[in-house]
Amino acid sequence: MTLSELREDIAVLGGKAYLASQIYSWLHRQLVSSFDEMTNVSKAIREKLSGFYTISDCTIEKKLVSVYDGTVKYLFKLNDGEFIESVVMKYKYGYTICVSSQVGCKMGCRFCASGIAGFVRNLLPGEILSQVYTAQKDMNIRISHVVMMGVGEPLDNFDNVMRFLELISNEDGQNIGMRNISLSTCGVVSGIYKLLEKKLQLTLSISLHAPSDEIRNSTMPVNSKWNIDTLLTACRDYIEATGRRISFEYAMISGVNDSDECARLLSAKLKGMLCHVNLIPVNSVKERGYVKSSNERMKAFISILEKNRINVTVRRTLGSDINASCGQLRRGVKESSTD
Ligand code: SAH
Repeated sequence: MTLSELREDIAVLGGKAYLASQIYSWLHRQLVSSFDEMTNVSKAIREKLSGFYTISDCTIEKKLVSVYDGTVKYLFKLNDGEFIESVVMKYKYGYTICVSSQVGCKMGCRFCASGIAGFVRNLLPGEILSQVYTAQKDMNIRISHVVMMGVGEPLDNFDNVMRFLELISNEDGQNIGMRNISLSTCGVVSGIYKLLEKKLQLTLSISLHAPSDEIRNSTMPVNSKWNIDTLLTACRDYIEATGRRISFEYAMISGVNDSDECARLLSAKLKGMLCHVNLIPVNSVKERGYVKSSNERMKAFISILEKNRINVTVRRTLGSDINASCGQLRRGVKESSTD
């Protein structure tokens, strides 16, 4: 609930207005997981609250810490017994959490592990929030950045994701600025237009991964609904409406999308756009046969993009020993990495 919704409900329960602010602060600043911890709230009100409401919470089922770089992967258990994953990474500027937006995924990208077990359900706003809060409490850190790049397609769970963004950025809560938040989509064009209307200052990332419909159709089923030109038109409209630079994710898959020709095509498609390309050597997923491009191939690809004045960087791989890297997250205790 937002603070104003909480105020309305507290008024109905017979509480004073400041009580709503106190409860909001317990939930979103002190990060309590039960009403009994709200020590400055009267017992009578706490009892009423426990009768009418539940606090979305998740418990740590498993925690893996990378020996290489300290990246932490959590397997969280939700109240209904479903599992989700989140990853916390340490950068020079602070801690970033990568959160999931759904249990499983419908999108079926061929190189990604998230959808292997299918789609189960959307996450509620509180369940997305509780990934951040539980990790913060467990690691005793402040998280300064959020990326919606875990399991699930955020724009396929639009309303809950918008409410999560409102809560996480609220100044009476964790107050994480929109400029410290990234949202990634595989290219749900209807959702991009809905997001555009909100004019948020977050960074929109697009999982492009191919320069032509022929290649993208073979790796990303979403492309048959919204093809590359439709997607890039939406991106241009988005940039015009928000003034924000878009980030394109491009997983380099050997022999699939990493040729010189692909680099030229990509440059032509993105020409003149306020954007940035983030290359990711594709991560191996046991069930998927794709192999990452060699360093030489990456270099050749980058030099063509640079010649065409496209901003390009290579994403650092973190948490590779705990299967925490892009596209390796998946639900299920048995299926999660144990090595
Ligand atoms: N559904 C959203 C959010 C997930 S973000 C989206 O698709 O953008 C996860 C990112 O990791 C996406 O860019 C996805 O395409 C990428 N990814 C998936 N599998 C990968 C793999 N095996 N190697 C590298 N990146 C991968």
